[in-house]
Amino acid sequence: MVNHRKDMYSDKLNLLPPYLFSSLDELKQDKIKKGVDVINLGVGDPDLPTSSHIIDVLCKAARDPKNHKYPSYNGMQEFREAIVKWYKNRFNVSFDADKEVLALIGSKEGIAHLPLAFLNKDDLALVPDPAYTVYKIGTILAGGIPISMPLLKENDFKPDLSRLNKRVRRSAKILFINYPNNPTSATADENFYKEVVDFAMDNDLIVCNDNAYSEIYFDGYRPPSFLEIKNAKNVGVEFNSLSKTYNMTGWRIGYIVGNEDIVRGLGKVKTNIDSGIFNVVQIAATEALLGDQSCVEDNRRVYKERRDVLVKGLKNLSFDVKNPLATFYVWAKVPDGYDSISFSRFLIDNAGIVVTPGVGFGEYGEGYIRFALTESIERIEECINRINLLKGEGL
Ligand SMILES: *Cc1c(COP(=O)(O)O)cnc(C)c1O
Repeated sequence: MVNHRKDMYSDKLNLLPPYLFSSLDELKQDKIKKGVDVINLGVGDPDLPTSSHIIDVLCKAARDPKNHKYPSYNGMQEFREAIVKWYKNRFNVSFDADKEVLALIGSKEGIAHLPLAFLNKDDLALVPDPAYTVYKIGTILAGGIPISMPLLKENDFKPDLSRLNKRVRRSAKILFINYPNNPTSATADENFYKEVVDFAMDNDLIVCNDNAYSEIYFDGYRPPSFLEIKNAKNVGVEFNSLSKTYNMTGWRIGYIVGNEDIVRGLGKVKTNIDSGIFNVVQIAATEALLGDQSCVEDNRRVYKERRDVLVKGLKNLSFDVKNPLATFYVWAKVPDGYDSISFSRFLIDNAGIVVTPGVGFGEYGEGYIRFALTESIERIEECINRINLLKGEGL
């Protein structure tokens, strides 16, 4: 390491939460090295491939030299218009493709950069806990202070906005929400979103809903968009992504839609940091949004079958789990006598099963583990069999 007289890392970097899982990672690597057949339900990355009609468009576009240049900052016109069409068709919400839509290098990129546009030093942002960590980290990197909103089971994993004290709600600038939710798999209805819009108008807040799982739904349920709600576009934006809907996590393409001023703020930050998304990827993403949607239907069928096997199996083993109506996660209470890390460790060590400890998503995730439905149905059955064999051996 360089021998610096000064503190090598910035205060902001030092403020980021510590990485909690190094010992779990080591244990997992150790098992793999020893030849254990590890079942990985830890990462939220689809195991299914991108549909071939999307890949065909990518390959063809890649051969056209005019696609090799710097892309535009805000995204190709045809991609932004495809997003507008898709939202109109799916949620009956309309946007101006020039002012209310911005292409992102995956929604994570936009979420991480958005606070830079709106927070001054020590400004507050309200973030759910447990949550996708980027809301909190984006806030810290922008010099802001994240204020946790606990997502508790007794509130169906929604934040209790009425519990936020007056000083906090008056001074906060951003409110992050994420439904369908990672990691709890909770969903939100129009009434909750109405409450959020009213709260944001009363307290002059920017609302960011992360709707990355809008198309992973089951049993006749269909998640709404936050922006369907009256006045929502006056206070907020929604992030969405092709990652989960079209199994395109590695492609790095997502977008933000909604309030023109908020979109413009993020756009100004991005103009000064990145230079857009490879046009070839945008052309293929346009095909994804406007082309045959049967791949999305197929996806849902696969996840539903896996969910049914996992949830039924866990319930038979006396786990406290709810059948999720959306997302590809199952959020389960850890058995008595364990916390989320010790139980995750127990599962790797004794059954070769990798899950994510809830505490990795925030302190209110303690007491839970998250299973991702990203292995085949046979592997999930095997996972249940292995847990069953642990009965009497510490379970
Ligand atoms: C997977 C995921 C995303 C999508 O991220 P991309 O950067 O678009 O791949 C966004 N939010 C949440 C909560 C996620 O789980």
